Amino acid sequence: MNTYRIATIPGDGIGKEVVPAGKEVLEALARTSNSFKFEFENFDWGADYYREHGVMMPTDGLDAIRNKDAILFGSAGDPDVPDHVTLWGLRLKICQGFDQYANVRPTRILPGIDAPLKRCTPEDLNWVIVRENSEGEYSGVGGRVHQGHPIEAATDVSIMTRAGVERIMRFAFRLAQSRPRKLLTVITKSNAQRHAMVMWDEIALQISKEFPDVKWDKELVDASTARMINRPASLDTIVATNLHADILSDLAAALAGSLGIAPTGNIDPERRYPSMFEPIHGSAFDIMGKGLANPIGTFWSVVMLLEHLGEFEAAKRVMRAVETVTADPSLHTGDLGGKATTAQVTAAVCALVEKVPVAA
Ligand code: NAD
Ligand code: MN
Repeated sequence: MNTYRIATIPGDGIGKEVVPAGKEVLEALARTSNSFKFEFENFDWGADYYREHGVMMPTDGLDAIRNKDAILFGSAGDPDVPDHVTLWGLRLKICQGFDQYANVRPTRILPGIDAPLKRCTPEDLNWVIVRENSEGEYSGVGGRVHQGHPIEAATDVSIMTRAGVERIMRFAFRLAQSRPRKLLTVITKSNAQRHAMVMWDEIALQISKEFPDVKWDKELVDASTARMINRPASLDTIVATNLHADILSDLAAALAGSLGIAPTGNIDPERRYPSMFEPIHGSAFDIMGKGLANPIGTFWSVVMLLEHLGEFEAAKRVMRAVETVTADPSLHTGDLGGKATTAQVTAAVCALVEKVPVAA
């Protein structure tokens, strides 16, 4: 019997509602398996912890989760704490501390979901966005001087390194190669950003030679937003910088029906550290504490977590349960135009997961 050690970090806002829901699904799964189980440890880090201790997580917090097999994360963000404090103090601290340099964001239109692209079938929209997750525009390098004076100045310097770009390109080409269409689009902005993005393009070309069976093309980031809407089927795997992919993946989630559905994995492909899985949405201040959050993004993240652990059958079973539930409009939450609660959706997914026991 395999025991997987999972750290749960609900964080703030609806993270506190969807992460326990994700844990319930994993527990339901484990009840039907005689080949694996989970050992959960919960960490109450986030804005409440900050109000009490002045930091979002303990300074040696990474050591408490370093030996976990995976992390299930909710959201960092609170109405009363500045966003850069919550984000850098918790989520980015984990992503950077564990060098989770590949952020993977699949998008599909799930059954029963009314997506805004009316001319688009679910077959047309099946993307994975690979986001560079360790440097670029979010490297954290910069400064601010002369605060409050007319001569005040501030910089956020985008850092691109050859090592950083090579590894994310190699990851993206490999992922594209593993998908049926073997198609990769490299997002760039090398017309306007003439140093780092030109290196980005050159490295894409260099790495492409290692993957002769992958078809690839380049698209400027601004043009790619139009392409996502006008020609969704021309895209499959997409690789982009930290900022570009951040924006494109929210667009992708909305095109697939809701931010509440979209999952992500912050992956350390070398498996030196635990990888972290989370819905892409934030704390959703407008609905937090009401039991109305859509837990599907977290459940899909749980699917990615299971795949990362190598539990592919279990992952498929959770995904099938999710798709059965989304196909039923009476189980849609408010973001999808329905009236269902987090608890109802969770109970429905858990019941389906438990229905057919996994083979040993
Ligand atoms: P948000 O994702 O929290 O909310 C945007 C909109 O989508 C809101 O109307 C919200 O109700 C809705 N929504 C999001 N997830 C939903 C779900 N599961 N079910 C139903 N509706 C859902 O984004 P925001 O408003 O830009 O940010 C709020 C806070 O969250 C900020 O503090 C921000 O910094 C933080 N944030 C954190 C993360 C993270 O930790 N990964 C990501 C994004 C935003
Ligand atoms: Mn984002």
